[in-house]
Amino acid sequence: MRYSRYNYLRNSEKYGALLFNTRTKFFISLSSELFSKITELSILKDFEVDTLDLSPEILVQLINGKVFVGQNEDDDYYELKKFLRYKQAFAQNHLGIVLVPTFSCNFRCPYCYEDNLPKTTITEEVLDAVYSFIKKKGQNCIDLCWHGGEPLIAFDKIASFLNRIHNDKSLSLRSHSMVTNAFLLDEYKCKFLNDCNLQKIQITVDGNKEYHNKSRIHKSGKPTYDTIMQNIENVFQYMPNCQVILRVNLHSQNKDTFPALYKELKERWGNKNYSINVAFVNDVNNSCKVACLADKGKISFARSLYETYGIKDIDISTQPQIGGCTASCTNSYVIGPSGEIYKCWVDVGKKERIVSNVFDGKLSNYILPSYTVGADMFSDAKCKDCVFMPICDGGCIVRRYNQKHYNVPYDPCPINEDDFLSLMEINYMKEKVTK
Ligand code: SF4
Ligand code: SF4
Repeated sequence: MRYSRYNYLRNSEKYGALLFNTRTKFFISLSSELFSKITELSILKDFEVDTLDLSPEILVQLINGKVFVGQNEDDDYYELKKFLRYKQAFAQNHLGIVLVPTFSCNFRCPYCYEDNLPKTTITEEVLDAVYSFIKKKGQNCIDLCWHGGEPLIAFDKIASFLNRIHNDKSLSLRSHSMVTNAFLLDEYKCKFLNDCNLQKIQITVDGNKEYHNKSRIHKSGKPTYDTIMQNIENVFQYMPNCQVILRVNLHSQNKDTFPALYKELKERWGNKNYSINVAFVNDVNNSCKVACLADKGKISFARSLYETYGIKDIDISTQPQIGGCTASCTNSYVIGPSGEIYKCWVDVGKKERIVSNVFDGKLSNYILPSYTVGADMFSDAKCKDCVFMPICDGGCIVRRYNQKHYNVPYDPCPINEDDFLSLMEINYMKEKVTK
């Protein structure tokens, strides 16, 4: 057997030796004696378990937790993850459509990457072509997400398209979601979207009311926070089955406002159907509106929230995952208002990133294959041996592509080793550890 490369073994100043296996989530607190023995074993290429000076109970735990593995087991696991990722990437049994009905927006957020886009809105003719494109694909199971610009500006087009889908009994929406600033989300729209079974709605706030009103600015200059909060309450009232994902954009200037916002939301909404998704915006991920990326600073921030304010529910997942996003799935398309097709929301509006169109469906360049198999973690040798490989999605595909093709600096690793110890310590505090 050998010591798995997916073991994370560290001596915490506060809690002593901790061992976590990222493949199995096996997590154990070790005596200093056991820590020394395992550290010695970790540098051996091969050992016989029968000869180890360990108690049978500990040995069983370490083998079941995949701390000790067969010679090829880690490589096999890597191949399995790669296989599952590519199986998902090439799956044709469902169709992912992100539909951008308009580039227009009623906000003027200073950081918005879509600010310079033409104010194009989809026409009925393009909607016809989108509908035909979907029909030609032949899948009746669709994941549909509305995106913008601000999609609700084109609510009439959304309604027209959804009526069409609804009336076609050969099509069904497996999932139905929307990314919106919620400023126009009134009772009428909520009721309509509820009838269309909208399941998830992602709405962004930029910190507490005071900060948000300076940051997410309506184009008329008026404040937006109160209207957004009121409209979220419309969702709770008129869309009882729809989950609100409240994305909170944080950065160094507003992160201290988060505890007050969190407290306000908890007091205001209690156990209503919403979750908070903290996103750390920086020069790497501020344009990924869907918070695909965990950020390095998130773990230490979550820890300080936990220690200082007792806030426990900031999601910092250590779940093994296959990863992948719209950019890496060949049957997922981001469709712009002129019927042009992209592979990622951050590419929207960039002519050079258009991969096809809904009218003829022909590929216009090599971006699709490059995103799918050329800019992922399996095309990066360092990921194979990385301790975080099982729980990491490999970072952003578009940014990996930009780095490879245009030398744009990008560090794809969403986790670093020291931060991970912090995460282990949080989990220890939450008593998710075998002692
Ligand atoms: S490629 Fe990057 S920005 Fe685009 S959806 Fe994937 S993680 Fe998000
Ligand atoms: S992206 Fe970084 S953290 Fe993730 S598996 Fe690759 S090397 Fe490890």
